[in-house]
Amino acid sequence: MTTGACKCLVRKYCTCHWQRKWNITDSGRSTYELVPTVGQKPQLPSRRNTAISFVWILLHESNLHRQPYRLSANTPQLCICGQSIDDLEHFFLECNQHDKARQKLTSDITSVWNDSENSEKCRISVPLLLAPAVNSNLSTSDCRTILSCTFKFLQQSGRIL
Ligand SMILES: [Zn+2]
Repeated sequence: MTTGACKCLVRKYCTCHWQRKWNITDSGRSTYELVPTVGQKPQLPSRRNTAISFVWILLHESNLHRQPYRLSANTPQLCICGQSIDDLEHFFLECNQHDKARQKLTSDITSVWNDSENSEKCRISVPLLLAPAVNSNLSTSDCRTILSCTFKFLQQSGRIL
């Protein structure tokens, strides 16, 4: 057996072991819902601040997730718009501070969705924006485009999450 073949076998074994552990472990379940498969290189935005925000969101450690720990659990922080609690759903889907960027995001993603293998109506959701690959009817190219739209929205929001 060559060294290259041996390395390949070890890599396969380690990836399978890592995947089994990832499937059954109790920790990181929020991240697991968005990134169920191990060993894949994530698509990240080129801008450093946007990349950091995106990774924090995937790890469930962004400012929008940590609110109960910043303040008392009974007083979640309101968004600066004053309309709702400042969480991921509000930031990506509702906040009027980002309406213009959201219009472009919604339009671009709806276009990708309508050209994909999906037959149902496009429903923009946080999981679709953060982990489009979970939808098996979206191609790799569709997923890359959707993530690019999400990165652009994050960048245009000007928020460091
Ligand atoms: Zn808001």
